[in-house]
Amino acid sequence: MTTPHPDRAAVISLEDLGLTYPGPPSVTALHPCRLRVEKGEFVTIVGPSGSGKSSLLNVLGLLDNPTRGVYRLNGVDTSTVNDSRRAALRGREIGFVFQAFHLLPHRTAQENVELAMVYQRTPRRVRRTKAADVLDRVGLAHRAHALPTQLSGGERQRVAIARALVAEPALLLCDEPTGNLDSDTAASILDLLGRLHGEGMTVLVITHDRHVAERGQRMLTIRDGVLTEAARAGAGAAW
Ligand code: ADP
Ligand code: MG
Repeated sequence: MTTPHPDRAAVISLEDLGLTYPGPPSVTALHPCRLRVEKGEFVTIVGPSGSGKSSLLNVLGLLDNPTRGVYRLNGVDTSTVNDSRRAALRGREIGFVFQAFHLLPHRTAQENVELAMVYQRTPRRVRRTKAADVLDRVGLAHRAHALPTQLSGGERQRVAIARALVAEPALLLCDEPTGNLDSDTAASILDLLGRLHGEGMTVLVITHDRHVAERGQRMLTIRDGVLTEAARAGAGAAW
């Protein structure tokens, strides 16, 4: 008989995970930490500059390896996979949303979203339908054929979110998703992330902005590489 794995329902499970850059001088960017993010949670991690946010994001996004501990992504121990499986795992399980959107400038919104499926060997016709559906889901059906330069910042980020969602990832991993947006537009992007969470998406947002972090269902702080569960989002714990 097999015992169910305790991490079965966790999208992210970190056990004693740490990251030290070798240097010299060596820098411990992440002190050993534990974290468990369940399917469907909306978690935010907030910390000031130099606190270890990018280091953590790189590890969570399978862009860098921790120097100790275990990272399980959707049940897979990521330390056991080779580089090509790691890239496949990243493509399958994680949708990235960045501060700077990273859209291809000479491709329409629709094409930017379709391109996220090219490596999955999805047939062209299916790609087209899925991209149109997901653009509709983020409220951009009417701008599907616009180029990024013809879109506002908020619309560009919606395209980027559509692109991140189209492969149906287990995790939406957002790095300062509102960092390039004015406050009203930022609020509408946070509303969208909240709505996606309401639809069952697992969302993790990393930010330096406490107001952004407070929009999550659950907030952690990071400071000097130490990750700490905050009392409650909105409870006003100071850092
Ligand atoms: P944040 O994104 O919160 O600003 P980082 O994760 O970029 O923080 O950095 C955390 C710490 O690790 C800082 O002290 C930074 O100087 C250091 N650091 C980041 N990247 C490297 C690296 N490649 N080599 C050595 N130290 C690094
Ligand atoms: Mg950073």
